[in-house]
Amino acid sequence: MLAEGLLWQEELWTGLELRGRTKGKLIVLKLGGSVITKKKRAMTPNLDSLHRLAREIAAAEVEHLIIVHGGGSFGHPLAKQYKIKEGYEDPSQIKGFSRTHQAMLGLNRLVVDALIRHNIAAFSVSPSSFIITKAGRIQIFYDNTIAKLLDTGFVPVLFGDAVLDSNIGFTILSGDQLVAALATRFKASKIIFGVDVDGLYTADPKTEDSAHLISHTTLQGLKSAMHNMGEAKVTDVTGGMLGKISELMPAIDAEIPTIIINAAKEGNIYKALKEKRVVCTLIEKK
Ligand code: ADP
Repeated sequence: MLAEGLLWQEELWTGLELRGRTKGKLIVLKLGGSVITKKKRAMTPNLDSLHRLAREIAAAEVEHLIIVHGGGSFGHPLAKQYKIKEGYEDPSQIKGFSRTHQAMLGLNRLVVDALIRHNIAAFSVSPSSFIITKAGRIQIFYDNTIAKLLDTGFVPVLFGDAVLDSNIGFTILSGDQLVAALATRFKASKIIFGVDVDGLYTADPKTEDSAHLISHTTLQGLKSAMHNMGEAKVTDVTGGMLGKISELMPAIDAEIPTIIINAAKEGNIYKALKEKRVVCTLIEKK
């Protein structure tokens, strides 16, 4: 027992050391489901987009990178059908939990394949294998594997996943919550959030003609912008922009500058990774 305890402690310590030792800047890049899949057609990837993004990521040659992708037309419809986010209420959901995870593995495989084809040392990591949530919020997070992958030179590729939950049995962990947790835990220098619009607007640019792009804001500015956008909209845009922003707030509060950018536009992700000027929203703590 004692030896086991010591071993566990030693492993934990190794993980902490690795986190400190990862040299150079770390960027956490989110690829939105709306960019890498065709959202209106079930289980349909946007392969052109995926390969273009892989090419841009390879060309940028970032020293340390974590990629998180969304579910788009792979994960969301199944998660919704089986009410996975709401937790375990009925045995019929069990199959849905497996199917949702499996659908995400299918998309993840396509993402990792595209990255490897462009000579990126991408390595798939399932969030459900090292994270347990409590009422939907990350509670347990074994980060040693990711620390070691980064230290060895891999690009861990994660995704929004169906995860076990200590309170409600299981739920959906969004890629957005995961991005903020990874960036904070591994002290990222930047978060790049790729979506299918040019950044954060004063209202949804797809439905409001009067919406204009917020090119630079602070945590405080963000709070008042969200207030102006209306509480009702915050709750009904499930996974939409405002939900994403509230998930990102802890990372911004931890002084990690966050860029929201249109990853569907050619060259944008390359420019953002290389710190070149590009149309986007930059959010900083102050
Ligand atoms: P993804 O699936 O790529 O993670 P979503 O489709 O869930 O992204 O969210 C991005 C969408 O949020 C945009 O396409 C846009 O239509 C919508 N949206 C709603 N409100 C805003 C806003 N204030 N600024 C920008 N986009 C917004």
